[in-house]
Amino acid sequence: VNPQNVALIVGVTGIVGNSLAEILPVADTPGGPWKVYGVARRPRPSWNADHPVYYIQCDVSDSKETQTKLSPLTDITHIFWVTWANRPTEAECCEINGAMLQNVLDAVMPNSPNFTHICIQTGHKHYIGPFEAFGKVKPHETPFVEDVPRLPFPNFYYTLEDIALEASKKKQGLTWSVHRPAVIFGFSPYSMMNMLGSLCVYAAICKYENVPLKFPGTKAAWNCYFVASDADLIAEQQIWCCVDPNGKNEAFNCSNGDLFKWKHLWKVLADKFEVEYEEFDENQEYVSLSERMKDKGPIWNEIVKKYNLTETRLEEVSFWFADLMFGWECMLDNMNKSKEHGFFGFRNSENSLISVIDKMKGYKIVP
Ligand code: NAD
Repeated sequence: VNPQNVALIVGVTGIVGNSLAEILPVADTPGGPWKVYGVARRPRPSWNADHPVYYIQCDVSDSKETQTKLSPLTDITHIFWVTWANRPTEAECCEINGAMLQNVLDAVMPNSPNFTHICIQTGHKHYIGPFEAFGKVKPHETPFVEDVPRLPFPNFYYTLEDIALEASKKKQGLTWSVHRPAVIFGFSPYSMMNMLGSLCVYAAICKYENVPLKFPGTKAAWNCYFVASDADLIAEQQIWCCVDPNGKNEAFNCSNGDLFKWKHLWKVLADKFEVEYEEFDENQEYVSLSERMKDKGPIWNEIVKKYNLTETRLEEVSFWFADLMFGWECMLDNMNKSKEHGFFGFRNSENSLISVIDKMKGYKIVP
């Protein structure tokens, strides 16, 4: 019998971390039955508590704390890197995100002799540069393909890749995989960037105020093709890389495998919240979602109280991220490499949207 696979999810309350925490412990998950440790900074939230995971509250940017809390673990076989830290400049992002990963590796590598694989989650910014680079560096052509040269701009995604590669050179048998999703459709009220989470809150507020659901993006964003990445699908691709030799030492895009237009999903969102759907109006003035939501804190608190929702604060909802997504067009990627290597997972993006909304309602994050 093979020894049991033991996962360490770093960022277990995040948008993909929470999916991994749900999927890994399930008996028929590839490589299972998995034993699972999950790390996050804050105390464990109620919506994460049902997953059979050993929860470790730890700030991995603190090297001492990371040593204290993670070096006693001696059975880790796989690390899932689904976390990040934001800083004002990309140079600082490289520093902090690199330090976080190195801290965890320094605690795990000497103590877990069966450590064999690390999944690093990055994203499309690999191809267009970090937020800070927009307008300063020429992005790669879409649809993005994995094996293009790096852009001449600092990027913490590159730092993470380099550290994983370096670790694999140091330890015989240690492999890595890099996962590059598009915008993620997933459930986590703690995620720093949750586009659907912010749209659900927006729709709930429109419903409460009895106004139509106006599209807060540009005409191009309304009409153009989009791709998205279901959080459960990303988790599945990461797990596939852990168990399949074809998934080792490679970077993979990870999107749903279909195209959609926001003008179509907008109707679905409106219907799910029973709010009046409105077509994009050519003559409407552009008002960002952040702008629309900036004075709604008291109303949100009323909604939370009235519907007995899980406590969340409007300031923590990532409207800025939805604005960014609605300002782009045609950020498409290509899934050939992943399929050619043997991962055939896909999602119907409309169903993905619906299942996230159902989860948001089920856990009483929105009414
Ligand atoms: P997230 O914000 O959803 O979750 C982050 C998790 O890490 C949380 O559990 C948080 O508690 C934990 N965490 C943060 N700092 C920590 C620390 N110092 N110590 C311990 N735990 C800590 O994360 P995400 O959105 O899945 O981001 C992971 C990667 O995916 C990032 O590189 C991000 O740029 C990329 N990405 C995200 C999206 C998206 O739509 N969210 C899209 C494409 C790529």
